Amino acid sequence: MTSSLCLSGNLRKLKHHLDADNQVIYFLRLEKKDSGEKIEEDLNQYLGKKINLSFKNSIRCVACNRNIKKTFNNGYCFPCLQTLAECDTCIIKPELCHFDKGTCRDNDFAANQCNIAHSIYLSLTSDLKIGITRQKQELSRWVDQGAVKALRIVTVSRRYHAGLIENFLAAEMKDKTNWRKMLKSEYQDYDLKFEQEKLFDKINNNFKEIDFVWEQDQVVQDIKYPMIAGLDKITSLDFEKSPNIEGTLIGIKAQYLIFDIGVINIRKFSGYEIEMRQV
Ligand SMILES: [Zn+2]
Repeated sequence: MTSSLCLSGNLRKLKHHLDADNQVIYFLRLEKKDSGEKIEEDLNQYLGKKINLSFKNSIRCVACNRNIKKTFNNGYCFPCLQTLAECDTCIIKPELCHFDKGTCRDNDFAANQCNIAHSIYLSLTSDLKIGITRQKQELSRWVDQGAVKALRIVTVSRRYHAGLIENFLAAEMKDKTNWRKMLKSEYQDYDLKFEQEKLFDKINNNFKEIDFVWEQDQVVQDIKYPMIAGLDKITSLDFEKSPNIEGTLIGIKAQYLIFDIGVINIRKFSGYEIEMRQV
């Protein structure tokens, strides 16, 4: 991309993968609202460069492409929020899974996304935390939350079972990330294998009715984020309050673009039509 060229489209969450050195490579994803054309731009190349992101005052639902004034649940319109399985309360609180009651919003979604192998993991974000995810996307989940280390500790065959175990462990461990601390990389280090061992009896004694695999042979995954400078103070940027954001990109972590002037959570603005150009 040269300074005369600009990219435009409706935002999607950042895509990423790890290189051989466990460094995250990020991509900005945009979707053209009319043609559906998908654009992906390598973001790591813009580190240290000044870029401009401007909100074009138009938002489309990420699921149905409807024109909307505000989004719910990171990009959805209100009807999608109320009807799609991926927007149901049980996605955030899997211990409330109601599939067995026959009231799931979408049985295909349950078969493909919920009633499949799930990992219960330990990760280090702003602190040591417990979490769950579909096993096939665990690495993506860890990057999305800004984990610098993560370890799969248990495998179960359903999201519901993962939720029951997580909910139980969350009574004495953190299950949320303090995003400011995470972005500043302020965390105490932990030996995740040692922390895993401490949980074995608790899980084994309390979940005899759940078939689970204790993942004792897993190795800790290290994750490094593109970052060229540290952050002292964090200012949160928002397209609703400042539709024109211009600054030098100094880092990318979790779903945040980190500029010298502040940080923006890209996932939160999924569906927003924006223009990006190098200044
Ligand atoms: Zn919709």
